[in-house]
Amino acid sequence: MQRNPARNCPGNCPGRCRWSTKAGRSRIGDHDSTQILRLGGWALGRGRHPPGVARQAGVMTQARTALIAGGGIAGPAAAMALHKAGIDSVIYEAHPAPAESIGAFLTVAANGVDALRTLSADQPALAAGFPTTAITVWSGTGKRLGAAAASMTLTDGTTGYTLKRADLYTALHDQAASRGIRVEHGKRLAAAETISGRVRARFTDRTEATGDILIGCDGTHSAVRRIIDPSAPAPEYAGLINLGGYVRGVRVSADPGTYHMIFGKRAFFGYALAPDGEVWWFANVPEPKEPARGALASIGTSEWRQRLTSLFADDAGPATRLIEATAHDLAASPVHTMPRLPTWHTDRMIVIGDAAHAPSPTSGQGASLAIEDAVQLGKCLRDLPRPDRAFAAFEQIRRPRAERVIKQAARVNNNKAATGAARVFRDLMMPVMLPLYVRFIANGKPGKQLYGHHIDWDTPVPAHPGTTP
Ligand SMILES: Cc1cc2nc3c(=O)[nH]c(=O)nc-3n(C[C@H](O)[C@H](O)[C@H](O)COP(=O)(O)OP(=O)(O)OC[C@H]3O[C@@H](n4cnc5c(N)ncnc54)[C@H](O)[C@@H]3O)c2cc1C
Repeated sequence: MQRNPARNCPGNCPGRCRWSTKAGRSRIGDHDSTQILRLGGWALGRGRHPPGVARQAGVMTQARTALIAGGGIAGPAAAMALHKAGIDSVIYEAHPAPAESIGAFLTVAANGVDALRTLSADQPALAAGFPTTAITVWSGTGKRLGAAAASMTLTDGTTGYTLKRADLYTALHDQAASRGIRVEHGKRLAAAETISGRVRARFTDRTEATGDILIGCDGTHSAVRRIIDPSAPAPEYAGLINLGGYVRGVRVSADPGTYHMIFGKRAFFGYALAPDGEVWWFANVPEPKEPARGALASIGTSEWRQRLTSLFADDAGPATRLIEATAHDLAASPVHTMPRLPTWHTDRMIVIGDAAHAPSPTSGQGASLAIEDAVQLGKCLRDLPRPDRAFAAFEQIRRPRAERVIKQAARVNNNKAATGAARVFRDLMMPVMLPLYVRFIANGKPGKQLYGHHIDWDTPVPAHPGTTP
């Protein structure tokens, strides 16, 4: 998208403004005093204003109420951080019921655990998981390629936890509810505008909500990101399809809490043995061409089972046994990243978590960065009550760290010639196993920067924090 004449125009130019695509098609001809928003074909906010009135939208008051779009990880964490900072919020989650993410699990690294602890939510949030301390890497021929720490264990014993995504979501929601934070399900944000220093949000069910600020915690395909900057880059497809599952009654030679990663001939397989004997597995299938929307959902479980077992048929290890023994449905999802988003906020709206910076799964840091963001945003709004200043300080503090994590994974990826599906796959996954963990953890300092990151709640945020957290 190209903009002409004013950058970040909706709301900033005194009257008529024009946005055009590179192909020259006009996107918006004129606009109102605030943001003109068109999401999912639904437009709002056409009330024209005389030149100058736009300034009214910039009236700055302290943020006392927040609308939070998205109730995944960043959403409830942000609500709890804001609560700690004395700001009320309501979470609006698109899904009609608490998330049921089939077969999906993740690791919250030591830094994410530390951020949860600041919110007094680490123990309940992680109760359904298990500590994950080591990774062993295998080739498809059964050769042991090496072993590394899965997430640095800090001197106080804090270590990474692996848990089912649905359990983490549920626990975070319970924690938010226990603090009196309301979550409204079935509320998919469609549009938002700033009017006289307040944000009005509209949902696809045609209801509305108003608050002092809007925090976009709505993940990689964020609607808030496009509201803040309609020309924001789209998420990048990582060339991988992810599936996962849970199995009981299959014996694997593994210590509980240890990940086993297998670089198979045609795809990548990982599994971990939970302390209760259940085996948690995931598969990354290279697919260079991004599947069309909805295409993966049309592939049934038996077809996935067949595809996966044939992909891993020539590999050593338990992949085919685990896939065949998985009784629940298999759901596949394409992996996307959001490497660099130029604009994180306006005066009253901001994106955090994956909506602002979704790293490659090779980093194992997406959830942890989202929780850190939440804590830091709470601090910024507490100490710099004008939202525009709080958001600017937040970005100054958080952008360098988030982009460092993203680059660490990408740098290793870029070192390989990414031609062909196998290469794409290996480029994305190899850093998880060897270079990242061995180099960055074994060598100490980078590992400490990554996993030892601590946000001290009691230290005030200066108005111009520079680049150090
Ligand atoms: C295969 C894979 C493996 C991963 N493994 C790890 C790992 O081991 N460790 C790790 O730290 N990270 C991992 N990640 C990344 C991690 O899952 C994300 O970084 C994390 O979930 C980000 O949290 P979030 O709250 O920003 O977004 P999400 O968790 O995606 O939550 C976004 C929420 O917003 C809701 N939503 C979306 N649009 C709207 C809307 N318009 N209105 C209202 N609600 C909306 C969604 O329904 C969802 O509930 C992995 C990711 C993938 C794909």
